[in-house]
Amino acid sequence: MELSRRKGRGVRLSFIIFAVVFISVAATLALSTAVGYRIQSRALTRNTLDLNRITANELSRTTQTIILSMQDTLKSASESISGGPLPEPAVQREIDFLRASVPYFNSVVLVNAGGTVVSTSPEALNIKGQKLTSTQAKQALAGKKPMISAPYKAATGRMIVLASYPVYDENGVYAGFIGGSIYLQEKNVFQNILGKQEDNKNGSYYYVVDASGNLIYHPEAERIGENVSANPAVRSIMNGIGGQMAIRNTEGIRFLAGFSIVPAVGWGIVSQTPASSVDSDVGQTVTRMAAVSAPLAAVLLLLGLLVSRRLAAPINRLAQLAFRLNRGEAAVDMPEAPRYWNYEANELYQAVSGAFRALNQKAEDFSREAHTDQLTGLTNRRMMDLIVGRWIGQRLPFAVIMLDLDRFKSVNDTYGHLKGDEVLRFLARIMTEEKRDEDYCCRYGGEEFAVLLPYASAEQAFEVAERIRARTEGEISPVGKAMTLSLGVSSFPAGAEDAESLFRQADGALYQAKQTGRNRTVLYREAAAGSENGFGD
Ligand code: GH3
Ligand code: MG
Ligand code: MG
Repeated sequence: MELSRRKGRGVRLSFIIFAVVFISVAATLALSTAVGYRIQSRALTRNTLDLNRITANELSRTTQTIILSMQDTLKSASESISGGPLPEPAVQREIDFLRASVPYFNSVVLVNAGGTVVSTSPEALNIKGQKLTSTQAKQALAGKKPMISAPYKAATGRMIVLASYPVYDENGVYAGFIGGSIYLQEKNVFQNILGKQEDNKNGSYYYVVDASGNLIYHPEAERIGENVSANPAVRSIMNGIGGQMAIRNTEGIRFLAGFSIVPAVGWGIVSQTPASSVDSDVGQTVTRMAAVSAPLAAVLLLLGLLVSRRLAAPINRLAQLAFRLNRGEAAVDMPEAPRYWNYEANELYQAVSGAFRALNQKAEDFSREAHTDQLTGLTNRRMMDLIVGRWIGQRLPFAVIMLDLDRFKSVNDTYGHLKGDEVLRFLARIMTEEKRDEDYCCRYGGEEFAVLLPYASAEQAFEVAERIRARTEGEISPVGKAMTLSLGVSSFPAGAEDAESLFRQADGALYQAKQTGRNRTVLYREAAAGSENGFGD
């Protein structure tokens, strides 16, 4: 693009129009992108929250089913063992069968009323005969009812959840419990049934907490058992309320979470997605949106560029003309108005060019008047001085003839002033006809005239002077008889060195002509032989 500014002369119109178009297009694009971003972001956030809520609901339904089924299984095993005493191999078979037939328990134990482990499946558990001391085991014994414990560290050193069911002897007296353990930090029922969650691209995952806010299941196994009740979603679960919300996790990362209660045990399941994944999705969508609108924006900008140039063209043209005028170019010719496609441009161009032409005409008239003598139509004294000044400045060689009518006073006296004027015009015509094309005829004073002859030597000027003199002498003037003239000739720079001496010399030569009888031409010669004052004829 060409320079939008001319030094200190302001910003170009086409640039301004284009800038307005550019800003409009850019602002529209930015605004639509921003609005798009907000709409997308809200919709996607809401969708993600809804989706996590639905996931949490489904998972809690599944978990509820698992827990009820777990209790059913323990119940039927308890019923088989109750009413004992059964021989030990039969008990072992029973609990082995229980562990093998359902995928819930990592291990199964039979504990007597005193808290001592009677049987284990797998047998290799190595706690047979051991007395259980954990609070949870004691609670199971004291409760004498079906229970599911909070997560705790068992005798084996593992983090577990214990599901227990009471067992009775043949007299219906409480004889202990049968318990299924879920190893929380190993491959367990939650992993198997709720599903693995490693391959989730957007970073979504879920976890399970018990009614006190302890982690029962979490993709980071080392965190299991940790209390996360500071989490607002978990707090809501502890209050028995499911729902959805944006939360910050313990590391300060924002998540969109849905959560749901498992009614049988008061556990809760939280399914959550990092908010950043929504942001990046929205970012992608908005980038796609921008990519789609980019070609349109480019077309608009191109259109803007074209329109701005075409709109500005006539004004630019006028401005350039005005600039030339302002710089002092005498006659700026106004080109015929072209047809612009824009109404205002046409009107403006027409109007301005009309005004320009009138102005040019006036200027021309004025300058002609300022340079011309009213009476004779010859170049006036003012203009003559200008021309002489310029030529001398340029060291242009030229000659000058000075003329004065002989005994003109008597013409005025005899025929009147108006007749005298006619004689002056008559002489002017002869001078104009006899001069060369490049010469200027000037009215110097009242009835005194001068001819400026560029590139003429004094001798060439003398010839012209003689022609004028001879014609005047030979023609009948307006007063009915021939008039005569006296003429003096000098030249620059051969004769004089400046304007003043040039005219003094010519005037001197003219005086000499008058002195020596009139009706003659005298050539100024500085070193003329036999003439002390430099004149000779
Ligand atoms: P000389 O031969 O010595 O030049 O005699 P002259 O009578 O021409 O004397 P001079 O040149 O001194 O006379 C100038 C006269 O020209 C005086 C004046 O009346 C007359 N004159 C000057 N300007 C004009 C003019 O514009 N119109 C008319 N009609 N007469 C003019
Ligand atoms: Mg005179
Ligand atoms: Mg005279």
